[in-house]
Amino acid sequence: MTMPWNKNPESSMEPSGGDSELALIPRWSVFLAIVVFIATQYLFHEVMPHSRHEMLPMRLIMGYSSGTAFASYVLLVGYVSRDVKRRRMSAGLWMLLVILMPGGIGAVVYFLLRQPVLSRCPNCTTELAADYHFCPQCQFQMSPACGKCFRSVQITDVFCVQCGHDLAEDHVPARLRAYRD
Ligand SMILES: [Zn+2]
Ligand SMILES: [Zn+2]
Repeated sequence: MTMPWNKNPESSMEPSGGDSELALIPRWSVFLAIVVFIATQYLFHEVMPHSRHEMLPMRLIMGYSSGTAFASYVLLVGYVSRDVKRRRMSAGLWMLLVILMPGGIGAVVYFLLRQPVLSRCPNCTTELAADYHFCPQCQFQMSPACGKCFRSVQITDVFCVQCGHDLAEDHVPARLRAYRD
């Protein structure tokens, strides 16, 4: 089980890692990707003029790779459409950029510039940035901190790794405090 005070803020939001990222891809985009793939095969084999000397395997490979590329692009656009809302970014602007920039450059820019996922306080559901140690509204402890220098410590630490402070000396030791309700 992933605890809210887990050191990595990304993993505390997405306990099952890659699976939940894939689950973010909406159904319409999966459906559309299949349609795009089939349409590409149709385009390559039926619509495009056949020359007499060309080889069939080449046409198959071309159709398959183009279809896969287009379908992946549709899935990517679907993923961004959900991800952008999760990160409280401007959905319209980013969707336009990802769709219109040629060769997937928009998507690359998106993945470089996207904001970190905001988490919510488990106690009062206030939105928290990834680096908060305490909830600003209810003082819920998101990650254990040293009582002397207030930097992050691990839940299993006995001494602070930054200043050597004995964590057991704290009024409410970080280890106990994080487990408290
Ligand atoms: Zn709170
Ligand atoms: Zn310290």
